[in-house]
Amino acid sequence: DHKATIIDGKAIAQTIRSEIASEVCHLSQKYGKVPGLAVVIVGHRKDSQSYVSMKRKACAEVGIKSFDTDLPEEVPESELIKKVHELNANTDVHGILVQLPLPKHINEEKVLSEISIEKDVDGFHPLNIGKLAMKGREPLFLPCTPKGCLELLSRSGISIKGKKAVVVGRSNIVGLPVSMLLLKADATVSIVHSHTPDPESIIREADIIIAAAGQAMMIKGSWIKPGAAVIDVGTNAIDDPSRKSGYRLVGDVDFHEACKVAGWVTPVPGGVGPMTVAMLLKNTLDGAKRVIEQ
Ligand code: NDP
Repeated sequence: DHKATIIDGKAIAQTIRSEIASEVCHLSQKYGKVPGLAVVIVGHRKDSQSYVSMKRKACAEVGIKSFDTDLPEEVPESELIKKVHELNANTDVHGILVQLPLPKHINEEKVLSEISIEKDVDGFHPLNIGKLAMKGREPLFLPCTPKGCLELLSRSGISIKGKKAVVVGRSNIVGLPVSMLLLKADATVSIVHSHTPDPESIIREADIIIAAAGQAMMIKGSWIKPGAAVIDVGTNAIDDPSRKSGYRLVGDVDFHEACKVAGWVTPVPGGVGPMTVAMLLKNTLDGAKRVIEQ
């Protein structure tokens, strides 16, 4: 009876976090400086607040100084941009993250493009995304979730070069950048989205599947090529009356079915999620090293 290797994202992320902590310690001893990350949040969305507090806590654990900026829901766009400019100018801040989504009256594209590309630790600045898309160019930062997906592959000993990869989803924060990263790593990449007819037949061809559609358990065991590596980014809450909370989180992949067919599979939760935060810390460290070590 075949059983896929379960990729333990939580454990891998923990390893990366201790690697980061020792590098931060080294920087601080050698130069008397620590990396700084500004986490900006606008408004009081529950999910955003919990992501932000998780990120701030993770910083503290590895010795990165976090600069908290909490702005009210009604803050004018110009105020937010002014804040971003201040953080751009602050030499103790090496990374700036603006938690998305922003309130409707604020133009997200405009705000993100005001972040200095040297401090763009989310990797969402159009110049960083543009460099990611171009052959022979290197962005200063890679977006955290896509970078985390590739890190999970490499730390599990899965090679990408020459493989067929399918990405399900094409959003600016996950699907599109992860596709470009796989292409840069010499995979042959197909992208499946909501207008793709017969996604199953395309997915079944893939040696590597990155699922980022936000559709609970959409990918069945029968859609997976035997032995494929399956990275499940999807995080979907579904009703579960047996839980005290009344819900539980599932991925875009039917995990139990996938375990019987795939070569490797990531669980939800405990797969890609913890890697996203670890990559944010890594990007902040790398940004700080570029400045501090010059
Ligand atoms: P979006 O809603 O922005 O994008 C979803 C993408 O999936 C779109 O490109 C959409 O196509 C495509 N899609 C939707 N339904 C289908 C379908 N039935 N078949 C094929 N493609 C489909 O989501 P995000 O990219 O922001 O997030 C995706 C998932 O990943 C979510 O569950 C989210 O919670 C999770 N996530 C997890 C993170 C982590 O750290 N673990 C970080 C970020 C996201 P179209 O473009 O045509 O609309």
